Amino acid sequence: MDKDQRLFELLSDGEFHSGEVIANLFGVTRSRVWSLVNSLEEKGVVVSRVRGKGYRYRGGSALLNIETISDSLSGTPAYYFPSVTSTNDVAKEYAKSMNRPLLVTSEYQTGGRGRRGRVWASCYAHNLMFTYAIPNFNASQGLGGLSLVVGITIAEVVRNKYKLDAKVKWPNDLLINYAKLAGILVEIQGDMDGLYTLLIGVGINVNEKPDIEDRAVTSLASELGTTLDRTALLAELVSALQENVKLFQDEGFIVFSERWDCLDAFKGMDVQLEQAGVITSGVACGVDDSGVLLLNVNGQMQQVHGGEVTLRLNNG
Ligand code: ATP
Repeated sequence: MDKDQRLFELLSDGEFHSGEVIANLFGVTRSRVWSLVNSLEEKGVVVSRVRGKGYRYRGGSALLNIETISDSLSGTPAYYFPSVTSTNDVAKEYAKSMNRPLLVTSEYQTGGRGRRGRVWASCYAHNLMFTYAIPNFNASQGLGGLSLVVGITIAEVVRNKYKLDAKVKWPNDLLINYAKLAGILVEIQGDMDGLYTLLIGVGINVNEKPDIEDRAVTSLASELGTTLDRTALLAELVSALQENVKLFQDEGFIVFSERWDCLDAFKGMDVQLEQAGVITSGVACGVDDSGVLLLNVNGQMQQVHGGEVTLRLNNG
């Protein structure tokens, strides 16, 4: 365990721990303890400091238990890090020397990414950030629709497990009541014509929702009013993902199109589509059998393929 993990675990009992006790326990000075607490706070953990009592954390989130996750994955190697730049970046490196799927997860990302280099915000030991990587992925079915399949997987697990109204937003977001719960970043490495490594990156706000300017954001904990067991959720998500990615590889998106339809947050809504700086208004009409978005623009049905496209509700 690194010092962030040890400190977080110690403070997680909800009791106060004095700087002196922590310093003795860790074999460091009290000023080092102070800077370790600062470091946790900089990563989004709310620590109370009370003079004469010490430090405590009462958020209720716990570190991930990678053994439990590994045990549930029937042989898929799982790698756990206290902090990484991004789980996709680390998985990309690990996948170079592997010939079977693997999981990379972390308590924190220093350079979490969304599409187009956007930032994915995280809070230490509160949310889920992971990459399921598949080396030698045979994409004879093409990749269109894959991020939709990942979205369906997350939405279904969240709906079944927590009875929350999680929905999907084309092509890569999860929403609850139009607030963003999770994001998906599918990347590939290698030659598009042959076999390559597929990286499915997922970020889910489980026990904390970051403040994001100009956007409604939610977390599972804020929806449910309670802190959740991230380990159990991650294990469930990865096994559902394994099953659905296999089904997608074997059958294509067509077998998922009805499932998407039931979960589509924007179907029938007035939307604005931004593509390369151009905004088009229309009515979202769901997706076709390959996951392509159907947009009714002044009575003409347009097909919108994935890529650098952003969809927003048209509130104007
Ligand atoms: P959009 O969500 O605007 O349609 P996108 O799907 O391309 O765009 P992503 O790449 O999935 O977005 O995620 C990056 C964006 O998500 C950021 O620009 C920010 O607005 C938002 N964001 C960043 N971190 C979080 C988070 N933890 N929870 C919810 N939203 C976040």
